[in-house]
Parts: sequence; structure tokens; C-alpha cells
Amino acid sequence: MGSPVCGFLKQNNIIFLRFFAILVLSCIPDGTNLCSNPSFDTPTIPPHSSSSSIPSSLKTLTLDGYFSFENLKHAAKDFGNICHYLPIAVLHPKSVSDISSTIKHILYMSSVTKLTVAARGRGHSLQGQAQAYQGVVINMESLDRPSMYIENGEVPYVDVSGSELWINILHETLKYGLSPKSWTDYLHLTVGGTLSNAGISGQAFRHGPQIDNVYQLEVVTGRGEVVTCSDKENADLFYGVLGGLGQFGIITRARISLGPAEKMVKWIRVLYSEFSTFSNDQEHLISSNNSFDYIEGFVMINRTGLLNNWRSSFNPKDPIQASQFSSDGKILYCLEMVKYFNPEKIDVLNQDIEKLLSELNYIPSTLFLSEVSYVEFLDRVHLSEIKLRSKGLWEVPHPWLNLLIPKSRILDFAEGVFGNIVKDNNNGPILIYPVNKAKWNNRTSMVTPEEDIIYLVAFLSSALPGTDGLEHIMTQNQHILDFCAKAQLGAKQYLPHYHTQDEWQAHFGTQWETFVQRKSAYDPLAILAPGQRIFQKAISIT
Ligand code: FAD
Repeated sequence: MGSPVCGFLKQNNIIFLRFFAILVLSCIPDGTNLCSNPSFDTPTIPPHSSSSSIPSSLKTLTLDGYFSFENLKHAAKDFGNICHYLPIAVLHPKSVSDISSTIKHILYMSSVTKLTVAARGRGHSLQGQAQAYQGVVINMESLDRPSMYIENGEVPYVDVSGSELWINILHETLKYGLSPKSWTDYLHLTVGGTLSNAGISGQAFRHGPQIDNVYQLEVVTGRGEVVTCSDKENADLFYGVLGGLGQFGIITRARISLGPAEKMVKWIRVLYSEFSTFSNDQEHLISSNNSFDYIEGFVMINRTGLLNNWRSSFNPKDPIQASQFSSDGKILYCLEMVKYFNPEKIDVLNQDIEKLLSELNYIPSTLFLSEVSYVEFLDRVHLSEIKLRSKGLWEVPHPWLNLLIPKSRILDFAEGVFGNIVKDNNNGPILIYPVNKAKWNNRTSMVTPEEDIIYLVAFLSSALPGTDGLEHIMTQNQHILDFCAKAQLGAKQYLPHYHTQDEWQAHFGTQWETFVQRKSAYDPLAILAPGQRIFQKAISIT
């Protein structure tokens, strides 16, 4: 089925690109909130003109894997559990060529259908980003995964499938005393899913996000072509795909940079009652040379008894003083730091830590320490997942809001939001930590505020069953966004979600033109990742 499409694309290339760039961009629906209806059919998009013939046309494809056309509700669900768009089919690919053939077929059919394609990693998106209303969802996890290849030389790396989970990469690379350098807080996410966003955690201040730790990708573009790309080869596609919200291609393989892995970690938490002291210390640490290996932080608003919860995993340095500590109802800021170490070198480690802590201004009685294995630390959120699942609290709606705030306005943000707009954080953690953007690659598609130091602020709320939690949290999120806009903080959303093209254009700012050009080049019919709602599929006129 592939060759007629390729011929068509080659012959009409230039007209095709110009025409579809205009058509695709002019077709984006304005102001329709597709996520407001939590039912499994979303009536706001018109159905395909010839939808009944689509499944049978897909059935004609010769594949290593297969399509399913029934019981598709799982593909209309994600971690956010707020948006539900039913696809028309789910592809369970076994090979990269299954993905390529399917995309080429959809291109070939594009004069009669609006069929789109969403790659789905683990579906940990928040607002339907891995879904495709009446389109095809590609269940990336069914892709055959050849065993990981680990290069253990001077520049170590691992070659993995785009559908691989980070937790599996950790276990495999540790066999060689190596591991990736940059992580997410939770490792049961796919390589393709996180590289389409950024992959930010407490190591990003030093190593950049996960998208800055990739040497090479194999991608199936929106033209159905299988392309290898890197900094040296097809660099525009490479940087476009990294942080590209799935808009330019489906990542089928990635070469990820590795570094030496230690066996253990020293995990430290200290508290502050003044935001400025807390953030000064965080900024000091991310700029120091021999600093910690991981630096994050979180806010506690109206959280009584939290220190007691820590006692199962953290030991207070001074138990008597710690037991006498009282927050007096104040907002507390917790700085969280980790140093990796090898047990044979514990003495050096303790000296280094003592020196680093002596440069900080936390409340002295609130020093808490823990020692766990490297794997236990990196896989820490999975423990919470197991507990929450056992209580039926993992699959609740997650109206998360992630923001990037420039350092110059973080005090304004903290003052306006913590204790004012957000009066408690009983719905879930609020993370806040700075990263040193000077060490990040600015050629990727990821959008950040224009300052060297930026803060990630993550409101990780869960809407508990039987409460009006979801509505309340979403209203609160909107108040935070409105505050940022009114105060002109220069904030950007991470894992962004918008309703209109104007909002997307404002989000991308000066990067918008490049983003649009790349869309025209690699996915001219806007087939890919429709759940991001940036572009809308065009019907080709042949
Ligand atoms: P999906 O949700 O399935 O997909 C995400 C997007 O990528 C979709 O648009 C999809 O179409 C596209 N996509 C999926 N696979 C591919 C592929 N192979 N090629 C191209 N496009 C693809 N993020 C952080 O940065 N830091 C964190 O610390 C962090 N912690 C998290 C903790 C939890 C508990 C959860 C649920 C998420 C967390 N995330 C974090 C967010 C995470 O990066 C995103 O959820 C991301 O979407 C990865 O999830 P996924 O692999 O299931 O991808």
C-alpha cells in the first residue's frame, strides 16, 4: 500500500506543503473545551464522512501485529482521567513497519477521512494527549522490543525501543554499573512519552531534562517514513521530535546517554518557614560545583502531622529537637536533596554532605536523613502507586498543573499563590525546584521561560471520589493561571494543555514559526497526536 502514497507525496511536494500548512492551521477549532465532557463519546467533533468504511479499509493492511475495533475504552482513558475520546481502532503493532504502513495507508485515505493517529505509551497523559477521537491509537507497548543494546565504552549509551519503560532501562543498565543520568520522578513511563515532553526531575539542574540526554532517535514521521536522526543526521527532525509533543513523528528507538551508577543514596530533607531563604538555598545548591546529585523541594500548606509520616522512612538528626518542632500553622518549604554514593566511600560522603549542609539556612531542628538503595530511591513513586492502587485511589481524576516560572518572578509567584490561591495541599503534593537552564539544549521543541534559572512548580492534585474535588481543583488551577497572566510572570506550562490556537501560539512564542514549519515538513496532514489539540487534521484534495 505504501508506494502510491510516496509517489504522490514526491510529485506534489512543494504545492502540498504550502497548501496544507495553510489548510491545517486554519482548521483548528477555537475555544471548544473537549475535555469538559467526561463521557466516553465526545460529540463536539463532527464524525468522519465515511467512517463506516474505515475499519474495513484498515483490515486490508498486511501487518505483523493487528488492529482491534471493539472494546476500545482503555484507549480513551489516561492518568488524568478527565478526557475520554473513543478511537475507531487500536493498532497493536509488532514491528516498526506496522506503524509506517498504517500511517501511509491513512495518508492514502486522507481524501475521504479525517483519520488521525495517536501513539500511546502508558497513557500517563493528563488531558487526552495520547488519545485520538475516532482515530487510530497505536498501543506502543505491543511493539516487539529487541533486547537493549548497551555500549560500555568511553561514551556509554543504551539503545532502547520507544515503548520501553524507564524502570526496565534502569535495571538493565545497572548490570553494567551504568544508568541514565536524567530521570522523571516516576519510572513506569515510556521513553517515547517522556521524550515527547521533556522528562524533568531533580537531576535536571545538572544534566538537563531527559531530552538533552539522547544521542539518536529512530522516528516514523507523519509521512510514514522511517528516519534515523541525531545532532549530525536529520538534525531538524531530531530536535523537533525532542519535546515536540508527538507532532512530528513516532519514536520507535532511542539512544540514551549513560553514566556510572552508584549503589546507594543519602536522602535528606530540611524545612524552612521563609520562602526566600528556601529558594536562595535551592539556587545556591544548583549553582555549586560539588553539589548534591538531586535537588527538589515541596510546599506544605496546612499539613499538620506530616513530620510524623516521615518517621517511617526518615530519621531526624536530633530526635528530641525534632519532636519539639512546631510550624505554628505557617506554610513550610521542604528542601529535598540526594547524594549518590558507594558504601566503601561513606567517610568522604559524610564530609561532603556536612560541608554542603553547613552552607544552608534551614531550621536546624528539621534535618531528616535516610539511606536507601539507588533503585529504591529512583523508583520511589512506584511504592506510592502500589499503596494508592490498593485503596482504589490511583485511578481517580488527576487535574495536575505544571508550570515553569522564571527565577526573577518566583517570589511574586509564591506570595500570590501559596496560602492565597492555594489554601491547603491536602489534595496532593506541590513540588517546587529550580533548574539551571544554561545547561539545557535550546534547540529542542521544548518551551521554557527566557531566563537561565527557572523553577518547575507542579501541583499534583488528585480528585477524590464522592467530593466536588475535581471542579474545585480545576477552578483553582485556572485562578493560578489567571494570576500568572495578570502579573505577567512569563510563566510557561509544562505538559501544556490549551484550547485555542492563539494560546498555543502564545505558548510557543518565537518558537511557533519553527514548530509550524516542522509540522508542514514532517506531518503535513496533521495526522499525529491530535489529542494535543495544536493542529487539526486536514482532508487532502487530490
Ligand atoms: P503517553 O501519555 O502515552 O503519551 C504522551 C504523549 O506522547 C502523547 O501525545 C502521545 O501521543 C505521545 N507519545 C507517546 N509515545 C510516543 C512515541 N513513542 N513517539 C512519539 N510520541 C509518543 N514528567 C516529568 O517530566 N517529570 C516527572 O517527574 C514526572 N512524573 C510523573 C509522575 C507520574 C505519576 C505520572 C503519571 C506522570 C509523570 N510525568 C512526569 C509526566 C510524564 O512525562 C508524562 O505523563 C508523559 O506523557 C509520559 O507518559 P507515557 O509514557 O505514558 O506517555
